[in-house]
Amino acid sequence: MARETMDYDVVVVGAGPAGLAAAIRLKQLAQASGRELSVCIVEKGSEVGAHILSGAVFEPRALDELLPDWRALGAPLNTPARDDAFLFLTERRAVRLPTPPTMHNAGNYIISLGNLCRWLAGQAEALGVEIYPGFAAAEVLYDGGAVAGVATGDMGIGRDGKKTDAYQPGVELRARQTLFAEGCRGSLTKTLFERFELRRGVDPQTFGIGLKELWEVEPAKHQPGTVVHTIGWPLDRKTYGGSFLYHLENHQVAVGFVVGLDYRNPYLSPFEEFQRFKTHPAVRALFEGGRRIAYGARALNEGGWQSIPKLSFPGGALIGCTAGFMNVPKIKGSHTAMKTGMLAAEAVFEALDGAGDARVEPASYQARFAQSWVAEELRAVRNIRPAFRGGLWAGLAYGALDAYVLRGRAPWTFHHHADNESLEPAAAATPIAYPKPDGKISFDRLSSVFISNTNHEEDQPSHLRLRDPALAIERNWMIYQSPEQRYCPAGVYEVLDDDAAPHGKRLQINAQNCVHCKTCDIKDPGQNIDWVVPQGGGGPNYPNM
Ligand SMILES: Cc1cc2nc3c(=O)[nH]c(=O)nc-3n(C[C@H](O)[C@H](O)[C@H](O)COP(=O)(O)OP(=O)(O)OC[C@H]3O[C@@H](n4cnc5c(N)ncnc54)[C@H](O)[C@@H]3O)c2cc1C
Ligand code: SF4
Repeated sequence: MARETMDYDVVVVGAGPAGLAAAIRLKQLAQASGRELSVCIVEKGSEVGAHILSGAVFEPRALDELLPDWRALGAPLNTPARDDAFLFLTERRAVRLPTPPTMHNAGNYIISLGNLCRWLAGQAEALGVEIYPGFAAAEVLYDGGAVAGVATGDMGIGRDGKKTDAYQPGVELRARQTLFAEGCRGSLTKTLFERFELRRGVDPQTFGIGLKELWEVEPAKHQPGTVVHTIGWPLDRKTYGGSFLYHLENHQVAVGFVVGLDYRNPYLSPFEEFQRFKTHPAVRALFEGGRRIAYGARALNEGGWQSIPKLSFPGGALIGCTAGFMNVPKIKGSHTAMKTGMLAAEAVFEALDGAGDARVEPASYQARFAQSWVAEELRAVRNIRPAFRGGLWAGLAYGALDAYVLRGRAPWTFHHHADNESLEPAAAATPIAYPKPDGKISFDRLSSVFISNTNHEEDQPSHLRLRDPALAIERNWMIYQSPEQRYCPAGVYEVLDDDAAPHGKRLQINAQNCVHCKTCDIKDPGQNIDWVVPQGGGGPNYPNM
């Protein structure tokens, strides 16, 4: 059965803030100049927003530029950020520190990014953008060395790799320009990095894993607009990370915990650090009497300025977090995702003019980025995250020096190391004893995954591929005691006893639980795990994360 082909001027992969902003800008430019331009977005979530997970305190700068009348259009920005608190936690105490300038949130809003994306999708469709949720782009199409679009994956391939009765070939979405907006650690973007050597001469990307829960708290405890960040306990001083607590509307509080994926101890479990955090005496009371309504996790990039790859190639470009525009000291990336989507749209629109059918490189995007406020803000904060490699105190001290004295103008640039290289062997590390969950404030992984509404067609090949299956035990178990059992926030990886297997152990992969955070693709010490898109709209179904 041959693949069906659909032709567009521009195909966008991913309906996050970057992809949606790019599509809207393209249609605005087409309308303004009276040109016809067909734009389509493919989204692997079952609906727009289903795979979006963020904090989120949202800086509206890019939205102001994209849709200046967003208030009148009913954008879901309902809770202005009011109070900012920055706390250092010890096991029993919370000490208030001065809020760093990058973390002041006056003028920002506490939102559900998933809901903002749903609203942006409505705006895009009103302008004529076609959006296809439930379709994962599984393959990049090439034509004469240029990207020529993407193909969605085949449906109805069984666990054994053979076609079932439900077999349907994927669809080829051919485009003159293709924008990749897959978010952090895009699976197709990874292949583009190699194909076009886009990372040559830049630092490795570094990452964090962010875990989040949404709670409904007792009305008396709810303070809409309150923003609290913590550092310190329960993490040790060598591990980068901290928590966020955002009070949004409807008595809801978003609580989350981020751990830098350059952590060293293979026994560390970001999930259990998060659960333990909620039991702190200064935090616990907020959740007592409340109800947890959603859970999820997602990686975020932390490399910033020195890790940004070359952004364009013949036939397309990278936008948003798939390239890596997160501003870590601000803990924000949705405004930069939107703005880079808009900048790429402008470059693409210009490149298409007069290009005929040729798949040209939208090369002006790189220069547009370099001259934009995104570049300005990322350049200024480029040394803060790497300074934390020296530990919490070194990072805080350097951060203060950088913010108050150097004001981001230091003549040096600190560098990054790849996160998969940072683990020490288990024999050299101290095991961590985590408390048992109480089922009220702290929970286990499986009951958590349950409320992420994650669902995958069971009869399909695993979308978590081991490049060399033997290494799961030979290297990961023997040297590191299989850290994937602990860093995976969804309990996908389990090491089971098996007398017939080498060393008496076997790795079981429960791929149907995967919440698409991409941490295993990043942190596996030998880069042996390759995350690829599953069939159709599989994955979490986040309501408003
Ligand atoms: C825990 C956490 C807290 C955060 N807090 C904040 C905050 O408070 N403020 C802030 O501004 N930012 C915050 N961020 C960062 C922010 O969420 C990101 O910067 C932003 O979501 C990036 O937007 P994006 O469009 O590039 O990617 P994403 O939002 O990740 O969207 C990518 C979309 O592409 C889809 N996709 C991916 N691959 C494919 C494929 N192959 N085929 C089809 N579809 C695909 C995905 O399903 C997804 O819908 C936070 C992030 C995390 C993880
Ligand atoms: S299997 Fe990988 S991508 Fe899926 S939830 Fe676990 S760590 Fe994240």
